[in-house]
Amino acid sequence: MLDVAIVGGGPAGLTAGLYCARAGLSCALFERLMAGGQASTTNVLENYPGFPGGIGGPELMMKFVEQAEEAGLSVEYEDVLSLDLSGRVKALFLEGREVQAKSVILAMGAQRARLGVPGEEEFAGRGVSYCATCDGAFYAGKRVAVIGGGDTAIEDALYLSARSHVTLIHRRAQLRATGRAAQRARENPNIEFCLGAPPARIEKSGAGLAVVLAGGARVEADGVFIAVGTRPETGLVAGQVELDGAGYILAGEDTRTSADGVFAAGDARKKPLKQVATAVGDGATAAAMALKYVQEEWE
Ligand code: NAP
Repeated sequence: MLDVAIVGGGPAGLTAGLYCARAGLSCALFERLMAGGQASTTNVLENYPGFPGGIGGPELMMKFVEQAEEAGLSVEYEDVLSLDLSGRVKALFLEGREVQAKSVILAMGAQRARLGVPGEEEFAGRGVSYCATCDGAFYAGKRVAVIGGGDTAIEDALYLSARSHVTLIHRRAQLRATGRAAQRARENPNIEFCLGAPPARIEKSGAGLAVVLAGGARVEADGVFIAVGTRPETGLVAGQVELDGAGYILAGEDTRTSADGVFAAGDARKKPLKQVATAVGDGATAAAMALKYVQEEWE
């Protein structure tokens, strides 16, 4: 039986794993896709401390994995299909096997939210994308639309503007993003703003797509990148730990959830700021709390 099982390999999970391994706990981290989570699909992180000039998201996340593994963390690329967090012994059900643990750190993170307009699902993967760094290269020399007004939309627009003409569509007249990146986007001749324009649907238009706005105006684009926030990946634990109305795990600064021996770290936890920097803090705290729990309840 593991001391700690960590679900999710983004910055929170990897930091939790690093701290658990260094504390001498037996631990394993389970990640269903690629380590690094959303940070791995971010082109440049400009606000993670220690890297003046910024650092590439994939590069930083590779370093996280390397350091955690060096400390002795086992990173296993397997999908956790279900969990039973109710007993003293926690169970993780993977394809063809069960893993038992004394405590669990939930670090499943969040993924891009859906816009929720007609045509979005139909053209997902065929012109509609949620990852500029993954799919941007397909649209070199073409027109793209980015939908959203937050930091992610601005970052996507800046990233795409190197190769494509970008129209940023935001439902309100004011951007939500206010930092330096927003200013750079405003000054970028390859980025056009279409503000105060709620998108109503996405449809086929010639060889590409069109975003039809409420009121009927159309933005023609070969690719449509949606960046309207995130939603937590907490379906696995619904009904087992307390969640808020939007599905985020309710846990305080000590990362303790409503279930004994279960801790929540990173974007899946309800908190005021979702950043790599705050995910890392959560991961370290969750590991310290798991260590305390294992020592107090099992030794
Ligand atoms: P966000 O800040 O929640 O912004 C979501 C944007 O999508 C808002 O502009 C929102 O419009 C719009 N939106 C939401 N639902 C919509 C809908 N149904 N139709 C049309 N528009 C819709 O999300 P985010 O940009 O992904 O950022 C998430 C968090 O990560 C934020 O805290 C952000 O600061 C942080 N982040 C930071 C960085 C960085 O610092 N480098 C980079 C990326 C993300 P309204 O404005 O009208 O609500």
